[in-house]
Amino acid sequence: LSDRLSGVFERLTKQGALSEDDVRTALREVRVALLEADVSLPVARDFVRAVQDKATGQAVTKSVTPGQQVVKIVHDELVHVLGGDADDGALKIDQVPAPILMVGLQGSGKTTTTAKLAKRLTERDRKRVLMASLDTNRPAAMEQLAILGSQIGVDTLPIVPGETPVQIARRAKQQATLGGYDVYMLDTAGRLHIDAELIAQAAEVRDVANPRETLLVVDGLTGQDAVNVATEFDDKIGVTGVVLTRMDGDGRGGAALSMRAITGKPIRFVGLGEKMDAIETFEPSRIAGRILGMGDIVALVEKAQQTFETEQAERMMKRFQKGQFNMNDLKMQMEQMLKMGGVSSMVGMLPGAQKMAKAVDEAGFDDKVIARQIALIQSMTRKERANPQILQASRKKRIAAGAGMQVSDLNKLLKMHRQMSDMMKKMGKGGMLKKAMAGMF
Ligand code: GDP
Ligand code: MG
Repeated sequence: LSDRLSGVFERLTKQGALSEDDVRTALREVRVALLEADVSLPVARDFVRAVQDKATGQAVTKSVTPGQQVVKIVHDELVHVLGGDADDGALKIDQVPAPILMVGLQGSGKTTTTAKLAKRLTERDRKRVLMASLDTNRPAAMEQLAILGSQIGVDTLPIVPGETPVQIARRAKQQATLGGYDVYMLDTAGRLHIDAELIAQAAEVRDVANPRETLLVVDGLTGQDAVNVATEFDDKIGVTGVVLTRMDGDGRGGAALSMRAITGKPIRFVGLGEKMDAIETFEPSRIAGRILGMGDIVALVEKAQQTFETEQAERMMKRFQKGQFNMNDLKMQMEQMLKMGGVSSMVGMLPGAQKMAKAVDEAGFDDKVIARQIALIQSMTRKERANPQILQASRKKRIAAGAGMQVSDLNKLLKMHRQMSDMMKKMGKGGMLKKAMAGMF
């Protein structure tokens, strides 16, 4: 996949601009690549369409090649579809005891994941957890949970031979209540394939326990099957989240994308090995990087964007030190202020900037006013912005009128500009400016 995409984007980088056709050509290949990563066909198709819409008409960041830009757009869209921000890993424990139901096919990693989560709840959330195995078909599976429980120091419900899963669920609930547990986890039986009996049993258990969370455990390596399983379980049982196991393997994790896109269910955790600590909260950006296999380019674009901004800031700083602080700079500063949460934050950041605070005060400079100041600067010509000292009465009148304001407003702006300019020059000599600016970019 990675090779294929690299090829496509290399071709793109050789072209000057990113035309609609270029995007389309690249995305046709992305679609194939997604399919190779086990993303299901309709999901891949929808995904590509969304990226096409987003990429078309989008500006290419300076100093970044069009091809690299496409990679970044593809990556960002992947992250978006996968759920955006990382899951906070908090399970819903809003009653005592809170039942958590674990479902999934046999061998998906249910028992292992039950124990991993129990350990997490015990250690991180300081919860008292009781685990119960409902896998009555396989005595060894019940033993397995008991063994894991003693390994991680989490209680398991004693095994009573001959009980049905529903009977065990009832006993677990009772035991959790009487024993003062915060959480009880029900590790259900699985089968190799989804069937009516499996679903019926899980539904019965669900009705007894009334779980706060129903986590579907899915083998992250199974690809398309995983999506069918997820859809079926969700339709019949109702799941609150998905755990993808075996993400420590070689698979590209395309199932994550399909699963999320088709079921809309959040992926909450990923299993990363057989050890009891090998579980992490789901991080869309990490999985996106893996599906795309082009983390290097994404990082490169992000770095380029950052570098570009830093270079811009440094160039600006050099000019400020020489006293070249013009209206364009002021405008940029004000836009930055708006972005960073207003005047107060900026004044707080500039050490020893009482003078400016005063200027800001005198100009009646609150957040709402900033927009008006920017409008004034916008109504200046390029030449006026670069050399505000040329502003005479007639120019001032024109500028103020153009922004729908008074000349007195403009004078306030000019005064502030002079004061800031002086201050920049002084601070530049003492090396203070560099410090102050470091906080701003
Ligand atoms: P269950 O039948 O759904 O309960 O599945 P198990 O929990 O018994 O797991 C089946 C096998 O998969 C065991 O050997 C586990 O150690 C292994 N396993 C579970 N989760 C992971 C994982 O995230 N990564 C790896 N590599 N192996 C796992
Ligand atoms: Mg099991």
